Amino acid sequence: MTPLARHIATRIAAEGPISVAAYMEMCLQHPEHGYYTTRDPLGTGGDFTTAPEISQMFGELLGLAIAQAWLDQGAPAPFTLAELGPGRGTLMADLLRATARVPGFAKAARIVLVETSPALRARQAESLTGHAPDWIDTVAGLPEAPLFVIANEFFDALPIRQYQRDGAGWRERQVGLDDGGTLTFGLGPPGPVAALDHRLEDTRDGDTVELCAAATPILGSIATRIAANGGLALIVDYGDWRSLGDTLQAVRAHTPEDPLAHPGDADLTAHVDFEALARAATAAAPCLAQSRLTPQGVFLERLGITSRAQALARSLSGPALDAHIAAHRRLTHPDEMGTVFKTLALFPDQASLPPGFVP
Ligand code: SAH
Repeated sequence: MTPLARHIATRIAAEGPISVAAYMEMCLQHPEHGYYTTRDPLGTGGDFTTAPEISQMFGELLGLAIAQAWLDQGAPAPFTLAELGPGRGTLMADLLRATARVPGFAKAARIVLVETSPALRARQAESLTGHAPDWIDTVAGLPEAPLFVIANEFFDALPIRQYQRDGAGWRERQVGLDDGGTLTFGLGPPGPVAALDHRLEDTRDGDTVELCAAATPILGSIATRIAANGGLALIVDYGDWRSLGDTLQAVRAHTPEDPLAHPGDADLTAHVDFEALARAATAAAPCLAQSRLTPQGVFLERLGITSRAQALARSLSGPALDAHIAAHRRLTHPDEMGTVFKTLALFPDQASLPPGFVP
């Protein structure tokens, strides 16, 4: 048993079963034993890897898309250039290098990183030496200014609650203890859930749906700032339009495992429900426009990843060239990250569509 498993079991023994969200929150953010609080989980030596860690092309292309949207909106200065959950700071470093020659962009940008993990803040400081970013714990601390914000694999790390359809109501999936005192999943009593009323139309008995309450105020803060002052939110994650099914997953050392097996020592994520993100944004700021939900592979192709890959390939050979070709495929191919990962943009309705999206 991990120290956190003992802590969670003690709490359940005293208070009864807890929601999947409460379990995820403790696993990921517990101040002493939380997964993100205590380590840098990224890269080949860590538990999982992400698009910016696979290739510099990802951050470069997203950066140029952001800079083009900034130019299209009249190059407001100063503006906030923010990232949610920046990991090792690799995406932001690649973005800043690629946009360095966009006149006025770097000078006008105030870099703000929204990050809870002390371990990852230290990594980000190393990656961004010379750029003097500010760190904040939550989006509530974002300045009132034009906001250009990126979130890659951030929303999948937020805690979700799960509900199983039961007649005209729902039973919440919970974490409890079996007779031997080991963590186990169970179901709470059936009842109505107001936030799921609209799902009674498209689900059947036994179906599981997920709700990410933590995402709603985050989208609200971002949406109101972009609607009031201009800007763009670029959200990249794995998931789909509207959640269906149990998508909670644990990964440790690049291998999937039971989400209850190693609390605090495995990464826990759930697919992102982009419809819920878009609804939360437009509920807070009705005049905000949203892009089509676009597969990552299609998005990167439209931004010119293949030309960029060919340009970089010219100075590579041998194993480095093989790795570069594999990275291009990994980011874009439908059998790899190209289709599972999606991109959504939120922007003021009078602004032009950001690069990489079509009407
Ligand atoms: N975007 C990075 C890292 C993804 S991992 C990349 O693509 O490589 C998830 C990131 O979100 C980590 O930096 C983690 O510490 C951060 N994070 C997770 N939950 C958070 C929360 N509630 N508030 C702020 N940051 C959070």
